[in-house]
Amino acid sequence: MRALVYHGPGIRAWEDVPKPGIIEDGDAVVRVDAVTICGTDLHILKGDVPAVTDGRILGHEAVGTIESVGPGVRTVKPGDRVLVSCITACGTCRFCRESRYGQCLGGGGWILGHKIDGTQAEYVRVPFADTSVHALPAGVPAQDVLMLADILPTGYEVGALNGAVQPGDVVAVVGAGPIGLAAIMGARLFSPSRVVAIDLADSRLEAAKGFGAHVTVNNSRQDPLAAVRDLTGGLGADVTIEAVGVPEAFELTVALARPGGRIANIGVHGAPATLHLEEQWIRDVTITTGLVDTFSTPTLLRLVAGGQLDAGRFITHNFTLDEFPKAYDVFADAANTGALKVVLSR
Ligand SMILES: [Zn+2]
Ligand SMILES: [Zn+2]
Repeated sequence: MRALVYHGPGIRAWEDVPKPGIIEDGDAVVRVDAVTICGTDLHILKGDVPAVTDGRILGHEAVGTIESVGPGVRTVKPGDRVLVSCITACGTCRFCRESRYGQCLGGGGWILGHKIDGTQAEYVRVPFADTSVHALPAGVPAQDVLMLADILPTGYEVGALNGAVQPGDVVAVVGAGPIGLAAIMGARLFSPSRVVAIDLADSRLEAAKGFGAHVTVNNSRQDPLAAVRDLTGGLGADVTIEAVGVPEAFELTVALARPGGRIANIGVHGAPATLHLEEQWIRDVTITTGLVDTFSTPTLLRLVAGGQLDAGRFITHNFTLDEFPKAYDVFADAANTGALKVVLSR
């Protein structure tokens, strides 16, 4: 079969590799029908994730068809169409019993395209299949469901739920890339009075309006603190969400929150960021961090099937699997191509 293989920083190839088979009793082998590329894959290609070694097949998001299952698998069978989640769950460890699957101690967590071969391939082996794949709902395009493999649960759980967005809140989201847009979409489910999107690129802010932002601020030429204070009687936002992963964005996200506000970090940080505790200690703020657990995936699947979440809105480009190198180029050059999520299908 063919797969997108990492060969060290800056080097990737769409090449022939052996087709995976069942290794453990709980495994499923899934024929990949549609797959996407994540910003995390670009971090890996830069060499930012040293746990990913030469020869690893990348990718942690897919929809596909079960090809074969190990003898321990009970809930899916060959021919079933499934969503392969970015998080794999053993289902029995302490953290899985608390629905904290991202922290799985039993061999799960974020393993696909990280510690084991991933989904950017014609076939992928998925461990703990019973607790790690989700049946596709009827009547929803498979590529829309693909958006629930990572970005939608991440924006919803680590952004909207950790930030505890309430009806009437003013929510400020720093960063309007795919994850920031997913956080906006998740926050809108709780009827905030205003969602403010902050980014340096007008094209992303334009997209943010389509995802439900009421106000957009380009912080290359507008002061986001002044804009948020204007909306909140000088107080600051009830909830602020960081969706970039650089120190300046985190520090802005903290500064934008009102006293007693909630600050949810989603961004993947590669460098230290300063928490100005000398300013914040007296302001009663709550700061949350997290890796997605995907405990919300069944909820989000029902919202997509019910028409309350337009997951397909993220998809800007479609390719075939054999166009993987080109799809990476388009996704990596989002500033010029306008790419949000690219989908590669058979
Ligand atoms: Zn991802
Ligand atoms: Zn576990």
